Amino acid sequence: MSFSTSSKPCVPGGRPSAALLLALLFITAPAFSEEPAAEPEPEGTDFVDTTTTDPAAGSDPQTPPAAAGDGAEAADSTDVPLAEAVEQASEIEAEPLWLLGDKVSPGTAATLTWSATELFQGVPVSTPVLVVNGANPGPVLCLTAAIHGDELNGIEMVRRVMHDMVPEKLSGAIIGVPIVNVQGFRRGSRYLPDRRDLNRYFPGNPRGSSASRIAHSFFTRVVMHCDALIDLHTGSQERSNLPQIRADLRDPDVVTLTQGLGGMVILHSPPARGTLRAAATAAGIPTVTLEAGGPSQLELNVVKKGVTGVETLISTLSMQRRLSIWGDPEPVYYRSTWVRADSGGILFADVSLGSTVRKGDLLGTITDPVSNARAELRAPYSGRVLGMARNQVVMPGNAAFHLGIEADDPPEDLAEDPEVVKSDVTGDYVDGISE
Ligand SMILES: [Zn+2]
Repeated sequence: MSFSTSSKPCVPGGRPSAALLLALLFITAPAFSEEPAAEPEPEGTDFVDTTTTDPAAGSDPQTPPAAAGDGAEAADSTDVPLAEAVEQASEIEAEPLWLLGDKVSPGTAATLTWSATELFQGVPVSTPVLVVNGANPGPVLCLTAAIHGDELNGIEMVRRVMHDMVPEKLSGAIIGVPIVNVQGFRRGSRYLPDRRDLNRYFPGNPRGSSASRIAHSFFTRVVMHCDALIDLHTGSQERSNLPQIRADLRDPDVVTLTQGLGGMVILHSPPARGTLRAAATAAGIPTVTLEAGGPSQLELNVVKKGVTGVETLISTLSMQRRLSIWGDPEPVYYRSTWVRADSGGILFADVSLGSTVRKGDLLGTITDPVSNARAELRAPYSGRVLGMARNQVVMPGNAAFHLGIEADDPPEDLAEDPEVVKSDVTGDYVDGISE
């Protein structure tokens, strides 16, 4: 069963939001994949650094009411008939993007600053927010990376994508936040200084814990300006992920997003509570997680795959043409399972990321360094290795291999299939699930 033939069960009902609908309306024939490669390479863009214009970075006094971004616009106009929407789209002119107290004019790029908290009075912890506002109207696509401060691959993906954008050729806007959890990043840690996981506190609370306040600030000041969002992650705790999209395929807008990302493995995964993916999607901003590689490393091959996926989406949405083209569809996995160590010892893998396995195949061995006792980990299902622990010392119960389970047919009803529900990630994130 392939990606391209899986749309039937993915769209149980409902309609895409107006923003995504609008994006799809911008798509013009012929499809980008048929275009000759005669157009010169995009020359990239220089970002105007406006960080000095928002020194306080704690409030948005300059932001006009229209840009307050409560995200309701997307949901308000879903009843516009298709023909009328096309007509309206052709009349719309690109508008300035108001964000974080700054104005980014159409056809320009800027580096803004988001500051969620103060380390000490008057010493803000700030992080850059890159914005390219296209010369033409279109949706606002957001990229967020390093919500877990030790996940480096996404930082480089954001840099590459943002600097490939050409404002004059862009329809819509791209907002890229390379390092959301700047305090974790500085310490090389997944967590905030209080050991909380920022990606369990969205949409946040202005009077809650430190994590909750940071989440609230980021959510209201940045995320609510997005029409769609891709949150970039890697595996956690010495585990690495095959580049893949985690998406709740029960949501038609999310399905639309995944279909634009090209040939990347897709894993159906209802988002865990408190994740940016869960909160943003609930607020009407379709969001997927792009997982690629492992923590604390920069892995060029997976960075390139992630960039290709994101740029394919940008092309598919006709925001900027002829960036990357990635055709070959990959399967959608509706269920997955973690194969765990049943004994302690030293884990060595016999498979690699992306390996296809049959039920009963040897995945790896665990050898007790003292007794020399050897245990085997075998595949409980046929499928594909979507994530795995690096070779390391493991204890019984540690998650070692993440298998996408091969299925002949997608489930009829994703919400009700007991096996799909069982593979829900909720509550199992620290030990094996990274997002
Ligand atoms: Zn993560």
